Amino acid sequence: MAKTVRFFTLGCKVNQYDSEAMLERFLENGYISAKQGAPADVYVVNTCIVTGEGQRKSMQAVRRFGRLNPGGELIIAGCLAQNKGEALLETGARLILGTQRRGEVVKLFEQAIMENARIVAVESLSRAAFEPLNISGHLGHTRALMKIQEGCDNRCTYCIVPVVRGGIRSRTLDDIRGEARALAEAGFKEIVLTGVHLTSYGRDQKDKPSLADAVAAVAETGGIERIRLGSLEPPVVTDAFADTMRAIPRLCPQFHLALQSGSDEVLCRMKRRYNTAQFLSAAEKLQSAFPDAALTTDVIVGFPGETEEEFSQTLAFCQTVGFMKIHVFPFSPRPGTPAADMPVQLPKHVKDERVRRLLAVGGRLSAAYRKRLLHTVQPVLIEEKRRGGAYAGFTPQYVQVICEGGNIGEILPVRLSELTKEGMRGELVNTIDIRR
Ligand code: SF4
Repeated sequence: MAKTVRFFTLGCKVNQYDSEAMLERFLENGYISAKQGAPADVYVVNTCIVTGEGQRKSMQAVRRFGRLNPGGELIIAGCLAQNKGEALLETGARLILGTQRRGEVVKLFEQAIMENARIVAVESLSRAAFEPLNISGHLGHTRALMKIQEGCDNRCTYCIVPVVRGGIRSRTLDDIRGEARALAEAGFKEIVLTGVHLTSYGRDQKDKPSLADAVAAVAETGGIERIRLGSLEPPVVTDAFADTMRAIPRLCPQFHLALQSGSDEVLCRMKRRYNTAQFLSAAEKLQSAFPDAALTTDVIVGFPGETEEEFSQTLAFCQTVGFMKIHVFPFSPRPGTPAADMPVQLPKHVKDERVRRLLAVGGRLSAAYRKRLLHTVQPVLIEEKRRGGAYAGFTPQYVQVICEGGNIGEILPVRLSELTKEGMRGELVNTIDIRR
């Protein structure tokens, strides 16, 4: 009988892509996905350590799977595996797999079983090349992630990512085209380009393709109707970049520009490579190229030494930009990073209170942005049918829309009629009625 496998994935879109690619390797080798709620023969926990919370949840998942199915085999993969290596063997895992060799996951796992051994496959990342982990998308979703870049050469003082993901390496344009074709053939309508530091795409390659070249490579693939970009940083948003993006009609006008702080002093302590003036200039370039641009961001609050004045600057700056969504993270010291040893670590209650205040501002900004879309007709990619019969999907601006009818996988015109807590409600309209 075929063996069953289940994945539990924590962290970012890059990790989600890696999990999907590893799951495909299992399915190609005769395994089947375990049914919801049923025990699995093999559990794979693809871990995260970007924050203390990510690490805690990763270990919680490892322990939970051990408890639920003591007879099952466990694989621990990803950033925590890269960071802790053989120390994780005490969990009873059969395979500890870092952030390379994920394409070999089945081979390594079966080798460990055959030899009745435990394997630690954690490679040095100092000379690592981009690992092509193609996915064909036969797992059947409407929106596909495509990893085009790995690693980061920056050393932001709070970030552990370069240690566990290595330096920048990028996927070739030919490889990007090939995967885009496979995903289009599998029926995907939307591709989200993602990477650990997408802004650095192509810098490691001989002919230095740019991120704009990568977007164009996907755009020329027939069948893909929407392209969305993952997290960007201000230096990539030049006038030429904004012009090139505007010329790609399938590009979604939603841009995630990672801010982290609206205080220049804090940005300097974080060793971010921009200041607020440069950030604002990048935001304005996108807002002028795309009149309904939805800007989303990440902010860390309670960075060491962050004063009330500096935090107030962040609140004010977020309002100046007018983000559609702010992801707020309390500062989490990562051992081995400079920020973990900086003086004036703020107490939890101060960080929690700042999280609440910034979330409140973010909620108001989000509602203000969505109000601008009221009564417009937007093309909604229908992604799921909910209990009770309603359908849910996303507009190009990444606003979630609930409507009464639909077909999963189709892009349908919906007139937006009402704001919900985080998204909007709307009614399907006849295509002839589309107007903005
Ligand atoms: S740019 Fe900074 S925050 Fe982002 S992955 Fe690189 S080091 Fe981490």
